[in-house]
Amino acid sequence: MLGLQVLSEDEIGDIVHRLAGEVSADLEGRTPVFIGVLKGCVYFLTDLTRHINKSMEIDFIQVSSYGASTTSSGSVVLVKDITVDVRDRDVYLVEDIVDTGTTLTDVVRLLEARHPRTVQIVSLLSKPSRRQVEVPITFLGIEIEDRFVVGYGLDYAENYRNLPAIYELQVENGPS
Ligand code: 5GP
Repeated sequence: MLGLQVLSEDEIGDIVHRLAGEVSADLEGRTPVFIGVLKGCVYFLTDLTRHINKSMEIDFIQVSSYGASTTSSGSVVLVKDITVDVRDRDVYLVEDIVDTGTTLTDVVRLLEARHPRTVQIVSLLSKPSRRQVEVPITFLGIEIEDRFVVGYGLDYAENYRNLPAIYELQVENGPS
């Protein structure tokens, strides 16, 4: 069941606006590729990119990890690949949350193999206390404590993604 609200709709809006400004200032005239990591990125990528008034391409990648439902595990498998050719392109990888860091490490490795000019990470949330692999997040929304959150794209068993705010999830017996 839903617990405390972690971020309100307005707070998310303020964070996304700030990030859009930071990313806009970083763009160098080349047309970047924004790659959203499905499915959690959907609302974040949508809100972020429509506040960046520059030409861009958008694509999506989807990976899945094995493991328990409220923790992420060590290895990921590619479910949906990008279709844009990222060779010599500036890539902004858009993620909802960095937890252990495993997912993004694998996704970055996968993209680097296609020889982009740059790859930078834009993440709405980060749980630094859970990190197992160091991930360089260039544009970060906000750090949160070690709790399982849902809403604004983040799910629990595919539910809650459509909530406009972000809430802590209280699972029976507590999230593992
Ligand atoms: P990592 O590989 O960094 O451990 O995990 C990244 C993925 O785990 C995220 O993209 C997300 O799908 C999932 N995840 C990690 N923490 C949370 C959380 O608090 N809530 C939800 N809904 N998903 C999470």
